Amino acid sequence: MDAEETAWEQRSVVRLVPSVRPRKLAKVPFVELADGRLQGVVSSGSDIERVYVSSIGAGTHELSCSTNNNRPCGGLYGAACKHIRLLADEAVVQYGLDRVARYLRVEVPEGGDLMAHLNGHVEQTPAAVVFSRFLRHLAYLEVPGSTDPLPELHWFPATGAAAR
Ligand SMILES: [Zn+2]
Repeated sequence: MDAEETAWEQRSVVRLVPSVRPRKLAKVPFVELADGRLQGVVSSGSDIERVYVSSIGAGTHELSCSTNNNRPCGGLYGAACKHIRLLADEAVVQYGLDRVARYLRVEVPEGGDLMAHLNGHVEQTPAAVVFSRFLRHLAYLEVPGSTDPLPELHWFPATGAAAR
């Protein structure tokens, strides 16, 4: 195992958080609070082959959305596109509104709509970094079913998000 891989494994331990509520994995297969952004991967509503990499910057709230091939999202101009809205909704499901609002540094009243309190401008960030993290995440999901313990998964808690 090389040093880079080891560093990744250590980061993974830190960011493993069970969902507050069950998530819609088909629509938003990947969401994380990392690199100073709420970022993730959102399925295209119309094309099953296409995914969007969307993000909202912490503090500045800049909005970014493009395909995994770095083509800018056609729905993002001036205001958030539906992918960013879906990402925000799923982040609230995954982490809870308080935690997402604190990470993005935005004041949202109890039960309020996160997106209604963001007024960030559009600023595209490269999709490649987020997308490669997503692929690493997927690699674990695609490990063939087996009853043998997987050494690199031993840090998953025994009661996973799926049980909630
Ligand atoms: Zn979009």
